[in-house]
This record gives sequence, C-alpha cells and structure tokens, in this order.
Amino acid sequence: MAIREIVLVGDSILRQKCDESGSESAKIITDLKDTLLDFRSKNGFGSGIAAPQIGILTRAVYISTKEFEGELLNPKVVGHGKETGLFWDACFSFEGAFFAKVKRWISVEVEYFDLAGEKKTLKGMSEHLSALLQHEIDHLDGVLFIDHAVKEGDYAVPTSIWMKMGTPLRASP
Ligand SMILES: [Zn+2]
Repeated sequence: MAIREIVLVGDSILRQKCDESGSESAKIITDLKDTLLDFRSKNGFGSGIAAPQIGILTRAVYISTKEFEGELLNPKVVGHGKETGLFWDACFSFEGAFFAKVKRWISVEVEYFDLAGEKKTLKGMSEHLSALLQHEIDHLDGVLFIDHAVKEGDYAVPTSIWMKMGTPLRASP
C-alpha cells in the first residue's frame, strides 16, 4: 500500500500526454487506489484518479463509485450521444478547492483494458460516471477540467459552498 503525493496544478506533468500503459501497471493501480481512497477519507468526495496525478505519465485510471470500481488501462472514449450537459466538476490536483461548471457529453462509450489484459467496454452508464470518465481520460492527454469551464470568471464555487448546495453533480446554466 502506498499513498502518493498528489501532483498539483502548475506542475508541467499535468499538461503532458501519457504513454500507453505496460507491465508496470499493477503497482501504479495499487497506488492510484490507495491515494484516491485516502483523499476521499480526508475530503469527503472523490471518485476517480489518473496516473499523472501521482506523477506517472502512463495511461492508467482508477475509478471508485457505487456503479463501477476498478482500473482502466489505455481507456478511450470511442463514442458519445448527441447531448451535452453542465456538471459541477473538481479535481484533486486543485486541492479540491473549488468546483467549476463544465460542459461534458451526457453519455459516452469507453473501451479499456483491465489488469488481466482483457479488453472491456463500458456503455449505458449514468451521466455522472460518463462525466467522471471524461475527466479522468482527459488527464491522460494533459487536459484539465478548467479547460472545459463554461464561462471564465463566473463558473466556480468553493468546495464548502458546493457542499452546502447539497453536493450536486449536475449544474444548471
Ligand atoms: Zn482531475
């Protein structure tokens, strides 16, 4: 078990494109899971983490929600519905300091590999899991959630306010 330090915004690692995942992935996945669960226990939220956030430029993600728990190696969005929606989104790499309204596809289809090397597909997911996967897969290409913010300067609330709002994931315009 290893809880790793989370790489914060401003570090160029978060803006780089990751390499395909390889044989080192089992250790990376363990560290991602431990770091995610530690963050969540301290901060009260957090459902996914990507390898660049612990300083590793490998296409590996770990998700922990009621709907899906597990690793995704080399995940790719291979399709999406026609509709977009607004979501409240945040990121460990911003110390979870604020939530921003971002625009995402409501429904996506994702292909990935598990640790056993088996190719899997996720589709028909809830909009929350769809949005979360878009967030994490973006990390693998150096894209951060603020890049999807809908209106600069008028989009963010501190985490404490978001929690008072009832921790909504879907945002109104
Ligand atoms: Zn993030």
